Amino acid sequence: MSHPPGADPRPLTGEPLALDLLNTRWIDGSGPHDLLDSVAGLGVWLNSPAVRGHLDPTPAADPATRDRLLLARTALDTLVASAARQDPATPESADRLNEVLSHGRIRRTLGPDGAPMSVVEMDDPSWAPAWYAAENWLRLVADRPDRIRPCANHACILHFYDVSKNGTRRWCSMAGCGNRAKAQRHYARRSGA
Ligand SMILES: [Zn+2]
Repeated sequence: MSHPPGADPRPLTGEPLALDLLNTRWIDGSGPHDLLDSVAGLGVWLNSPAVRGHLDPTPAADPATRDRLLLARTALDTLVASAARQDPATPESADRLNEVLSHGRIRRTLGPDGAPMSVVEMDDPSWAPAWYAAENWLRLVADRPDRIRPCANHACILHFYDVSKNGTRRWCSMAGCGNRAKAQRHYARRSGA
């Protein structure tokens, strides 16, 4: 690929963490890609801005972190499919997410300056990225579950959280899938289809 080493090669970034984890897989002209198919790719993901903001310090890119992240991604796969159909989560997919969530917890305390604090504790640091992605899913579901969407291009596997005012976003990107759909409609009209 033509991107410099360490640069995030993905076509869509900047979605909430749970969806950003799903968007570690994408399909382009050269076929399917998976950023998490190597520990080096995991390092790229952990250092991307959307992820770094959640994780301080940045966890080590190692096989254990990757395995746990893949468990979270598998759970999110089935959850996002249900969400796209506006169906409730199946018990099996809820169990899978809850298994990831069981490895971390939020402890509430009153801080030294009298302000409330939330401290996140993990069984092991390698669970942190997976746990934060799973926890982010809970936030999306609590906030606007109807805004969790797959790209309307059926050949595209990316997901986004539609934060537009009217909730009319359909594409992962207007420049990519949006334009392709517009071009296809145009040719269909010209050929009388
Ligand atoms: Zn797309």
